[in-house]
Amino acid sequence: MIATMDIATTKVERSKLQDLNLENIPFGKYFSDHMLEADYENGEWKNIEIKPYQPLLLSPSLAALHYGQAIFEGIKAYKGADGEAYIFRPQDNFRRFNVSAERMQMPQVPEELFMDGMKQLVELDSKWIPDMEDHSLYIRPFMFSSDEMIGVRPSEKYKFIIILSPSGPYYNAPIRIYVEEQYVRAVPGGVGYAKAAGNYGSSMYATAQAKKKGYDQVLWTDAFEHKYVQEIGTMNVIFIIGNKAITPDLGSGTILAGVTRDSALTLLKEAGFTIEERDLSIDEIIEAYKAGILYEVFGTGTAATITYIKELRYKDFVMHFDTDKWKTAPTVKKWLTDIREGRREDKYGWMVKA
Ligand code: PMP
Repeated sequence: MIATMDIATTKVERSKLQDLNLENIPFGKYFSDHMLEADYENGEWKNIEIKPYQPLLLSPSLAALHYGQAIFEGIKAYKGADGEAYIFRPQDNFRRFNVSAERMQMPQVPEELFMDGMKQLVELDSKWIPDMEDHSLYIRPFMFSSDEMIGVRPSEKYKFIIILSPSGPYYNAPIRIYVEEQYVRAVPGGVGYAKAAGNYGSSMYATAQAKKKGYDQVLWTDAFEHKYVQEIGTMNVIFIIGNKAITPDLGSGTILAGVTRDSALTLLKEAGFTIEERDLSIDEIIEAYKAGILYEVFGTGTAATITYIKELRYKDFVMHFDTDKWKTAPTVKKWLTDIREGRREDKYGWMVKA
């Protein structure tokens, strides 16, 4: 147990919450009253404070704007059955944040600053956690290089910030997915496993092309043969084939190790499925579909939780799924939501009190 960090806190005079209705509030559009901010300078973290949510004053020469040393995380807080604020598996996001930091040649954020800072901020703004089903408070920790100098080299200064955004259901309808064969998200040796801001900017072109064809998102495939599936937009992907739950393994470093992916696999195991984390080719997927044993395909991610896929298109071959008849993804989604919102026993210790 770490001692609680003493963080200088300046509170707002008037909460913006009075002007908002949190029901079905759109994802990522509104932010709570406060934010946490810290600076890294001369090898140490300083100026750690919680203060009213406000704009940043940045120099046009800010290193992050030019060379992209920028990483982030996405975590959710819920109201428990006892009315208290709980955060879903924050330790996993903390660890992943520092994995991303290392890959991007950025400093590590100490556990005390990340975890205590987040808990204190969430506790302070706990009234911003919507108390409705499928609603939560999205937590966005991020870090960027803040040297005011143009030159390609790791920055000496960084900023670490946490902001909070109340959110309603993310994708509430089943989606259509296009299997991508031209553009790539990640390559072995690259930064696919890191939550680096540039990964998202660089994925938008392919997504826009898929949207023009009438699809919501792409399913990325491997960079060399476009044969093995990877992940979808900001979600990992799980295929239910026979009595197995199959998902690409994380070994190649091209896939983000999703916290929801790990949680869903844990619950699928509990539900009696055999879990396989391995290479999964589009040929195997099509074969299973033709054999009638590809029962369900769904995405997992913090923002969306579980998203059903109703159509999967590879070249001219279209796979349709009648998501209304599904049993597995809805069960996993329900169990996960029930654990998060305090209606199911938290036997894996996922909920952490703010
Ligand atoms: N893949 C990518 C590329 C993502 O951005 C995310 C969202 N963080 C995920 C997968 C799902 O990860 P998690 O379940 O931890 O949100």
